[in-house]
Amino acid sequence: ASDADGHLQNVGCRTLSLSAHVGFDSLPDQLIRKSIKHGFCFNILCIGETGIGKSALVSSLFNTDFEDSPSTHFLSSVRLRAQTFELQESNILLKLTVVKTVGFGDQVNKADTYQPIVDYVDAQFEAYLEEELKVIRSLFSYHDTRIHVCLYFISPTGRSLKTIDLLTMRSLDSKVNIIPVIGKADSISKAELQEFKKKIMSELVSNGIRIYQFPTDDETVSEINTITNGYLPFAVVGSMEKVKIGDKMVRARQYPWGIVKVENENHCDTIKLRRMLCTNMEDLKEKTRAYYESYRRCRLEKLGCRDLGPENKPVRIKQRAAELLTFLNFSLQEVIETKRLEFCLEVERKEEEIKQRFVQRVKEKAAMLEEAEQQASMPVCLEFVLTKFEHLTLMHQEEELKLGEEKKRLEDEIAQFVEKKAITESIQSQVSVSTPGV
Ligand code: GDP
Repeated sequence: ASDADGHLQNVGCRTLSLSAHVGFDSLPDQLIRKSIKHGFCFNILCIGETGIGKSALVSSLFNTDFEDSPSTHFLSSVRLRAQTFELQESNILLKLTVVKTVGFGDQVNKADTYQPIVDYVDAQFEAYLEEELKVIRSLFSYHDTRIHVCLYFISPTGRSLKTIDLLTMRSLDSKVNIIPVIGKADSISKAELQEFKKKIMSELVSNGIRIYQFPTDDETVSEINTITNGYLPFAVVGSMEKVKIGDKMVRARQYPWGIVKVENENHCDTIKLRRMLCTNMEDLKEKTRAYYESYRRCRLEKLGCRDLGPENKPVRIKQRAAELLTFLNFSLQEVIETKRLEFCLEVERKEEEIKQRFVQRVKEKAAMLEEAEQQASMPVCLEFVLTKFEHLTLMHQEEELKLGEEKKRLEDEIAQFVEKKAITESIQSQVSVSTPGV
């Protein structure tokens, strides 16, 4: 059956008319829905001396008091401490990773201060590359830890950049988006601050250090971004404290002479920095992807991988597969070697532990034996001496008896001898009397 316009109609079927327009202009909405569901991820690296105000600024930027323990000035080398927080604003989820330097600028020899930071940034690229080259990969759910922005804290000296600042920024400017900020900017006067900002910018230019420039090619943000680029480096103030002003609690620093409000644009640039980070987050990520691309290219080229022209397509595919296998093999070998070393170290550690425990046990046993011997030796000695004494006494008594008997026998013998002698003498005298001529 057909209707008046000639359209086919199924008899008994319901006819539904469209409630709204359907077309590919709805594609962005799908992306938005998916992004909202998945959430966003943003990674910040804060570089600056201990106590320059990194923690206070990050808490102020995201208006959240992030738990963190203060670090000491006595570390022998620079370390990086990463913390991930899940934040929510309306129905938007943000997985924020804050990486802070610990012990930066605290060593006497500052020559290699920047190296651990460069290594950290590279390690995040390497981790992503490994995930990307896996046979079974899950980049959608992978926690991407590549650094999207680096807030470099400059001390509010009012003079110039330090050598450590120039060296660190130069070693990082081809790997990460650097936004220089003047920390604790409330400790410098307004006029000095303007001069200091100019000085910093001219030093960065003369040293060939590239810092992040907010994009001006998109007309929706070009005006605000051009103005904001003029505020670089941002003079920031952070605070963990909230002060009651009127009937509102605001983040501020309270001094005997007045209050510095973190979110007041006449007092500092913290709010400008927050606004710019939020409005240009996607651009920061895009630039990070470009830095990653150059890291990836260098890494693969070092491993001997290269692209061939389209004429060699079959060869190219084969070669790419071989290159990837080499890479995977290489990284697998690295992993196996690292695991093997870790295992050997663990075995050595365990062996040493067992040895130590054994020596300790032997020492304990020896001590116990010694103690027991000492306790037992006293009565044993006495007993021994007593037994010996009794034995000697008995022997002595026996000897005495024997000697007594011997003495008696000898005395008897002497007596018999004396008697016999007397008899013999009397006989002799009788004989000589009776025979006078003999
Ligand atoms: P971190 O070691 O760089 O993370 O420094 P913290 O954020 O822990 O701050 C160290 C000290 O500096 C704390 O006593 C803060 O209250 C103070 N502080 C932080 N930010 C500012 C600031 O903008 N101005 C001033 N004057 N002090 C600050």
